[in-house]
Amino acid sequence: MRVLVVEDDPELSRQLKQALTESGYAVDHAADGEEGHHLGDTEPYDAVVLDLGLPEIDGVTVLKRWRTAGKKMPVLILTARGQWGEKVAGFDAGADDYVTKPFHMEEVLARLRALIRRSGGHAAPELSCGPVVLDTNSSKVTVNGVPVKLTAQELRLLAYLMHHQGKVVSRTELTEHIYDHDFDLDSNTIEVFIGRLRKKLGVPIIHTKRGLGYQLAPPGEGDSV
Ligand code: CA
Repeated sequence: MRVLVVEDDPELSRQLKQALTESGYAVDHAADGEEGHHLGDTEPYDAVVLDLGLPEIDGVTVLKRWRTAGKKMPVLILTARGQWGEKVAGFDAGADDYVTKPFHMEEVLARLRALIRRSGGHAAPELSCGPVVLDTNSSKVTVNGVPVKLTAQELRLLAYLMHHQGKVVSRTELTEHIYDHDFDLDSNTIEVFIGRLRKKLGVPIIHTKRGLGYQLAPPGEGDSV
């Protein structure tokens, strides 16, 4: 899962980046509305944290432009205390949720998890595929109830597939959603990670679709190669 943070306050940006990275997301950051708009317009994000008071282009305008252009990623806006008008403008522009500054980081993380789950059509925090269960709150993975330890990237990979269960996901799509902007993209790396993930899970739920990509489905459902 890959998240964009658009925030001009350096200290707050640092805290958000750190907390999101520690929670297992690939994170990109923009410090003004122009760069933020550009990134959200050109890169595929699973969610965006958008401050409304931004230099260059304000957050409400950025959001309106994304929505006009058909961008559907969930957007959590950061609003100033007491500025109820800002919230209304944000929701009217297409925001999905908001947090008022100053906020507790845990609240931002919890709201983001919920937004990402719901955008994938899931309401419950636990996602499962056959014997594999991912708790999106704790990022813990179990197979037949036994905990499995995954690296941050393996976890991101599994989380993305879990959120898009049953769908065929291309290697390019996976690459774009598990790495941040600065990473040198190499789709062969995905194959290596998929191999490791399969080995750790030990159950055949990641099916290869030749020439297309991968599909997460319970063992026996989907054409395994
Ligand atoms: Ca600001």
